[in-house]
Amino acid sequence: MAIRRILTVDNAADLAVLKQVSKDVPAVDDALRALMDDMLETMYDAPGIGLAAVQVGELVNVIVMDLAREGEEPAPRHFVNPKITWSSDELFAYEEGCLSVPDYYDAVERPSKVKLTYLNYQGEAVEEEAEELFAVCIQHEMDHLAGVLFIDHLSRLRRDRAISKVKKARRAA
Ligand code: ZN
Repeated sequence: MAIRRILTVDNAADLAVLKQVSKDVPAVDDALRALMDDMLETMYDAPGIGLAAVQVGELVNVIVMDLAREGEEPAPRHFVNPKITWSSDELFAYEEGCLSVPDYYDAVERPSKVKLTYLNYQGEAVEEEAEELFAVCIQHEMDHLAGVLFIDHLSRLRRDRAISKVKKARRAA
């Protein structure tokens, strides 16, 4: 396993990759499992609760996540070729953050419940309903696969402010 570099919005080349649309993978094989292992290690190291493959520069429809709270056993999860099949009309606002937009948080409103299908780490097809933090996180990560960042849901003013804040913090560091 290896920790990969996480692409961030303050770097123009990184941002260009983060804006790209990822593709479905043909199968879950050992190479893909190795990528998912790297992604989880990278995510735990950051630390974060979700990571899309594009955030480490791989344009494939793969997401890893762990929503265990502090003190709980780790609960790593893998989503390959995820598709949202249903979204609730009811919305839910949550203060989101993103490893590609370090140290910036802002409220985004999304459907409070979704149903999704995906392949798991073993390549088995799974159908699942998500609510609360799981719903927020899976929609945030699936946005990444479509080249969309959570700050793209904000007004242009707030989005620009977020990016300049990240840039300033990076220069200071
Ligand atoms: Zn993110």
